Amino acid sequence: MMGLLAEIELIIDNLHKWAAPQHVKKNLTTMGDDVYINYEPLGVVLVIGAWNYPLVVVLQPVVGAIAAGNAVVIKPSEVAEHTAKLLEKIVPRYLDKELYPVVNGGVPETTKLLAERFDHIFYTGNTSVGKIIMQAAAKFLTPVTLELGGKSPCYIDKDCDIDIASRRITWGKFVNCGQTCIAPDYVLCDKSIQGKLIEKIKETLKEFYGENPKESQDYERIINQRHFKRVLGLLQGEKVAIGGEHDESSCYIAPTVLIDVKPNAKVMQEEIFGPLLPIITVKDVDEAIQFINQKEKPLALYAFANDKKIIKKIISQTSSGGVTGNDVFMHFTVAELPFGGVGNSGIGAYHGKHSFDTFSHKRSCLIKSLSMEGVNKLRYPPYTQKKVDW
Ligand code: NAD
Repeated sequence: MMGLLAEIELIIDNLHKWAAPQHVKKNLTTMGDDVYINYEPLGVVLVIGAWNYPLVVVLQPVVGAIAAGNAVVIKPSEVAEHTAKLLEKIVPRYLDKELYPVVNGGVPETTKLLAERFDHIFYTGNTSVGKIIMQAAAKFLTPVTLELGGKSPCYIDKDCDIDIASRRITWGKFVNCGQTCIAPDYVLCDKSIQGKLIEKIKETLKEFYGENPKESQDYERIINQRHFKRVLGLLQGEKVAIGGEHDESSCYIAPTVLIDVKPNAKVMQEEIFGPLLPIITVKDVDEAIQFINQKEKPLALYAFANDKKIIKKIISQTSSGGVTGNDVFMHFTVAELPFGGVGNSGIGAYHGKHSFDTFSHKRSCLIKSLSMEGVNKLRYPPYTQKKVDW
């Protein structure tokens, strides 16, 4: 809610500047002309949201699309059914129903929507459905923004304040029960610090959620039984250092840390999107970089080290949608930074001015005066040698 409100305020404060024609540098032949970029709405935008932060991932793109002057068809995720119903009820109270309809439903309804022609499709969700969205958009050459996920790595250098790193990682991994697109998916670290890391994560979990996270008001649940079974399936056969307890009836999975995880383990093959943190040991930063680069480009990347040069080295030798050094999530909170993925983690970006740009067409405009025709002589035939030499 806070992020969303801050985004709305930022847009209200700055829209007059962003939407104003942007005059550009001119050359000799256009010196006397009016040359500028005009920001135009694209038309009708389709925003398809995911369930994990069901309000913000739907409304934040909608805010940007409205700011840029578009009509928006809003499709919340059916998986977060209460938020979907709430949006259907409250959006028409405040926004024009004709311009901003909320369409609820699952795969059949979304498939029907995708058969229509839109001027932009903004999708948040998993990579496989992202491909379906892009295929449907291709039929009309509709541009897409795909906000997807992936396995976001977290490297911890052995020369690092493990106490601080553990606190920040524990928060980032277990908030919303690990169901965060930019959650650190797995940890890469030297074997010598694995023990201390586990000890510190354990201490932090106790501080955050008490002796039994199941009883904590602040520890969430897995969204549904399907995802509960999927996450539990990733736990099978792994060495549990912390947690592992679960309860199907309430979709509870305790904050869980797995150690000595093999790179080819099942839990390392897909985005976890749940409260499991595998630790994989590497011998140094170069091995960590190699490990990261063998996988698809992730949505986020985290690196913890006392020496900033190590963080810069990781940034320069890998790729990801975004990076935070010595913390988690923080790049996401800066509206001036574009938020989005790269490769398998997405196409395009948004937040703040980047949202306005995503939902605008930058139209190149040049208005000439009908006088001063003499200046144009050079471009008209006949192309004499004298003109070439001039
Ligand atoms: P989901 O199941 O809610 O699906 C997302 C949307 O796609 C829904 O509105 C759903 O109706 C629609 N959909 C599902 N299957 C479809 C199909 N076959 N055809 C057309 N539409 C279909 O959400 P999810 O995919 O489980 O979301 C989790 C994923 O989203 C994770 O990978 C996570 O990392 C990613 N995510 C990314 C961001 C981001 O900002 N990059 C934010 C949140 C979540």
